[in-house]
Amino acid sequence: MIRCADIINESVVDGPGIRMVVFLQGCPRHCSGCHNEQLIPVEGGRQWAEEDFAELILGRLSPLHRGITFSGGDPLMQAEALATVAAIIKARRPVTDIWLYTGYVYEEIENFPVMKYVDVLVDGPFIKAQKNLDLAFRGSANQRIIDVAQTRAAGEVVECYFDNISKVG
Ligand code: SF4
Repeated sequence: MIRCADIINESVVDGPGIRMVVFLQGCPRHCSGCHNEQLIPVEGGRQWAEEDFAELILGRLSPLHRGITFSGGDPLMQAEALATVAAIIKARRPVTDIWLYTGYVYEEIENFPVMKYVDVLVDGPFIKAQKNLDLAFRGSANQRIIDVAQTRAAGEVVECYFDNISKVG
């Protein structure tokens, strides 16, 4: 089962292109200045069987969607269930670009099974003292936007840089 608080069908602020944003319920942290405090409790939202949830998402995707962003909360509180959901999505729609926001850092979770299906990881907790509204797709300067495939190939973290609209490096 997977617990979801909300789904935004079309967003352009949680990764490049038109994206579906899936807010999963529950987060183990209490970052000062959290943008989604109502998603911290592990109870709340609605529970779905993994297969039904994947079908719900697939049914809402259109050819215009570049991908899906899993946010929260911390989606990795439900890492096992999310791996099942992501595997179904990637099998049925391989072009789907999957981004995942987490408060963990890459090195802590790189071997989680769900990471096989994640194209880009935005890692690290939100740190209010490092908040910067000029950063694209992340809230604080400590957070990294990590290209997972390139990171695996290089054997070290490879970050992507965006200027709010397009990738610049
Ligand atoms: S990791 Fe994200 S959702 Fe969790 S408390 Fe921090 S800012 Fe909020």
